Amino acid sequence: MLGLMVLLASIAGDPAMVLRPDRVFDGSGAAHEGWVVVIEGERIAEAGPAAMVKAPVGATNLPLPGCTLLPGLIDAHTHLLLFPYSETPWDDQVSRLPLAERVCRAAVHARANLMSGFTTIRDMGTEGADLADVGVKSAIAKRVIQGPEMVVTTRAIVATGAYAPRSFSPEWRIPQGADEADGERLREVVRRQIRAGADWIKVYADTPHGPGSAFRPAFSQSELDLIVSTARDAGVLVAAHAQSREGMRRAAMAGVATIEHGDEGDLAMFRLLAEKKIGYCPTMAMSEAYARYAGWKPGAPAPRDIERKRGSFKAALESGVAIVNGSDMGVFPHGDGARELELLVRHGMRPAAALEAATAAAAKMLRMEERVGSIKKGLRANLLAVRGNPLDDISDIRNVRLVVMAGAVVRRAD
Ligand SMILES: [Zn+2]
Repeated sequence: MLGLMVLLASIAGDPAMVLRPDRVFDGSGAAHEGWVVVIEGERIAEAGPAAMVKAPVGATNLPLPGCTLLPGLIDAHTHLLLFPYSETPWDDQVSRLPLAERVCRAAVHARANLMSGFTTIRDMGTEGADLADVGVKSAIAKRVIQGPEMVVTTRAIVATGAYAPRSFSPEWRIPQGADEADGERLREVVRRQIRAGADWIKVYADTPHGPGSAFRPAFSQSELDLIVSTARDAGVLVAAHAQSREGMRRAAMAGVATIEHGDEGDLAMFRLLAEKKIGYCPTMAMSEAYARYAGWKPGAPAPRDIERKRGSFKAALESGVAIVNGSDMGVFPHGDGARELELLVRHGMRPAAALEAATAAAAKMLRMEERVGSIKKGLRANLLAVRGNPLDDISDIRNVRLVVMAGAVVRRAD
């Protein structure tokens, strides 16, 4: 009986919808003026010039004058379980907030991201909130709460003694913001995380540890190799946090699929990444947020860390490495994912390339290009319409007019 009802519901379905914006950016290349997009059920049924596309009988027309229609945006580096450290320092979020409060906040963050046009996120570690990302992901998938489709990594992996919180008495063994493991035991930790629901494995290839505050490699080459090969056997890819040159080099040699941050990357290093087809998430917005928390005001001379970051991004652009939009949202407010796109453009990327990094290129790097990231017949109808033209002015991405998730309108601002 239930099966029959589901069948009848899907036949009756919602009426098809025809979106008529001024232009369509389909995920790569240039925008198409005068295109229309037809949605049927959860999918894109048709996309093309208005004169060539036949609207299904009974379809609802949705004119979007003055608007650009894009694929729903992708952020490949977020932390739904974190919020700005200016409100509550990272140490306190990780060690003092009840898990339930963190999860409630994550639900609010998820909705804010969806409403700003992000329909897919890769969440890069719960930072002490155990396996909460797996539960938030399933609550979204079951439509208990609203949010982007999530790719999750669970707890992330760090080397013993290399992470935080560390501001407690040295006699205390404080639970850490990620899963501590070394040597042979890494095999078990990778397998446990995958069993718990990790879609990707995240490893901290380097952290500031030892004397001073320099980034230093956290794992040996053979440890990173073990992590990647164990994950690979389970059909799971690895993302590496790497800010130092040596951390990046080891992660690249181990065969990770993406490298996060890359602050000390130079042209030769990014060329190595390009050659190995490793994606790069610059997280420009995270670096700026840290500088702001340390007292920097945008417009004032940039501190050394920001200068270095801008230099490495320039090298990345020159190298031809696949740049993927990944902001480290959570360090700065959820719902403000446009920040990263604005910074990518401000520091040398063409708006069309930045938008591609947040749509088709991100989907490809996440191995999701058959489902999301482009406006193409058969893909999930995850769409964003904004007023204006973000291919001319990237900040127009903030002027959200419509958000569609799997064919359902979740935000409409007339
Ligand atoms: Zn991060």
